[in-house]
Amino acid sequence: NAKDNGTRGYEFFQPAMNLRAVERQFLEEGMRQALERAEFVLHYQPKIDLRTGAITGAEALIRWMHPTRGLLYPGNFIPIAEASGLIIPIGAWVLRQACIQAQSWIGKGLPPITMAVNVSPVRFESEGFLEGLFAILNETGLDKKSVEIEVTETLLIRRPELTASILRTLRETGVRIAMDDLGTGYSSLSYLHNLPLDALKIDQSFVRQISMAPNQIGIVSAIILMGKSLNLKLIAEGIETAEELKFLQDLNCDEGQGYYFSPPVLPEQFARLHNTGGFRIFGDAARTRSPL
Ligand code: C2E
Ligand code: MG
Ligand code: MG
Ligand code: MG
Repeated sequence: NAKDNGTRGYEFFQPAMNLRAVERQFLEEGMRQALERAEFVLHYQPKIDLRTGAITGAEALIRWMHPTRGLLYPGNFIPIAEASGLIIPIGAWVLRQACIQAQSWIGKGLPPITMAVNVSPVRFESEGFLEGLFAILNETGLDKKSVEIEVTETLLIRRPELTASILRTLRETGVRIAMDDLGTGYSSLSYLHNLPLDALKIDQSFVRQISMAPNQIGIVSAIILMGKSLNLKLIAEGIETAEELKFLQDLNCDEGQGYYFSPPVLPEQFARLHNTGGFRIFGDAARTRSPL
């Protein structure tokens, strides 16, 4: 250990690690100013009704236009935002911005959609989360029924009681709740019937098995059947191929998102897609991709 080899604990500072620490520090400092400098943007990925091809909703996904690093994806900075607590103001910004966007689309006469926003467990468990959320919803005037909060299983592992009670309060006001990345959090699925959920989002790692590991697709079917038996809406994430789509349609999966239809896009592009009425869905899934 450090004492024995006389390096006084500095043995941990391998060059690679040092770089990572410096990079994290650099990003964290930049993030402190990013909100006031308006460097964050939201992209919106359409959610599609797998039966009709209609767009039913949008998921707001944050990106950071870093002044020197270019466009950064959430995997590069959300963990740092969570560790530093910056996720709390950033998350509030995301919700406000997404609600403003949804209102603006309604104002432009676009058919109504559900706006889904990811909520970090760190923010969810923070003091005043619900009050802040309701303040933003009231301020933007968006109907609570058209807002969907996406939460993850980690919440249930950490604070099951607190989580359930916050979710119940949220649900009573009409806000919808989806369990994101279902099946990736190492928690038992038996808790699901105790929670006030509206939707389950099947993680893309399971969707990928449909095309990549067909001998394991039993898991996808099982998740869908279980969700159906609980009367939940099933949303498949990360649909990339016609084969995956077809399989999910055959299992009566309700909705889906993925590059097969559209990546997350800028608001103007989303409005254009939505205006054209969504995607063509034929029995032949291979022809569904082209927007109407
Ligand atoms: P998520 O909520 O599970 O979002 C789905 C991710 O899959 C997004 O990545 C999306 O761009 C990507 N995706 C969509 N369709 C496909 C596909 O067909 N194939 C593949 N390979 N990927 C697809 P993104 O935008 O990089 O976001 C990653 C994660 O970062 C999100 O996972 C979410 O957990 C988190 N995140 C994003 N925005 C926010 C935010 O505003 N707040 C918080 N707390 N977390 C966020
Ligand atoms: Mg999500
Ligand atoms: Mg997800
Ligand atoms: Mg995911």
